[in-house]
Amino acid sequence: MTILYKIDNSLYVNITNKCPCACVFCVRLEHDSVGECESLWLEKEPTLEEIIDAFEKHNLEDYDQIVFCGYGEPLERLDTVVEICKWIKAKSKTPIRINTNGLADLIHKKETAPTLEGLVDSISISLNAPDVKSYLEIARPKFGEISFSHLLYFASECKKVIPQITFSVVDILSGEQIEGCKRLASEMGIALRVREMIK
Ligand code: SF4
Repeated sequence: MTILYKIDNSLYVNITNKCPCACVFCVRLEHDSVGECESLWLEKEPTLEEIIDAFEKHNLEDYDQIVFCGYGEPLERLDTVVEICKWIKAKSKTPIRINTNGLADLIHKKETAPTLEGLVDSISISLNAPDVKSYLEIARPKFGEISFSHLLYFASECKKVIPQITFSVVDILSGEQIEGCKRLASEMGIALRVREMIK
C-alpha cells in the first residue's frame, strides 16, 4: 500500500481513494500510479497511525515540500489531514501543500477553510473551468450545479488563511475557456496555473 511517494524532491501523501468528482482528465482513468510507485489504489484507507509510521521512515528536511495529493481528494479526510499537518509542523519546517478539488465544504457540510489556518502553507485548487456549465462537463461532481459556487467560496476563504493559493486548470480546455479562467482567477486575486494533462 503506497501512502507516501516521491515526485522530484517532494514527498506526496496518498490517504484516500474517495472523490466526489469524476473529472474527464483524471489520471486514475488511465493509470494505476504516477511517479515511481507501483499503485496508488489503496486496499483500505490507512489509519492516522499507519500514516505517521510511514512518515517516520523519512527525514522530512530532505524534501522541498510535502504534498497531500494521491488517488482521491485528500480533504475527504479533513480531520486526518489536520492531525498529520499538526504532527509535521511539530517536527519540521518543510512546507505543506494541499492539492484539492475545492469541494470540502460540500463533502463535510460546513466551512472547512478555517480548519487549515496555520497548518497549510500553500493550496492548489482545481478550478477546472470558467463557468458552471463547463465545470459540470469537465469535473462531473456528484453535488451537481452548486459545486462551482462552493468551490469559488472555498477558494476565497482559503485566501484569507493560507499564505499561498493557486487555481489550476488542465490544458484540455479551449483557448477561450482558459482565457475565461484567467479572468475569473484575476478577479479573485488568485494565480492560475495551466497544467499539462498527465498521459
Ligand atoms: S478531483 Fe482529482 S481525483 Fe477526483 S476525479 Fe478529479 S482529477 Fe480525479
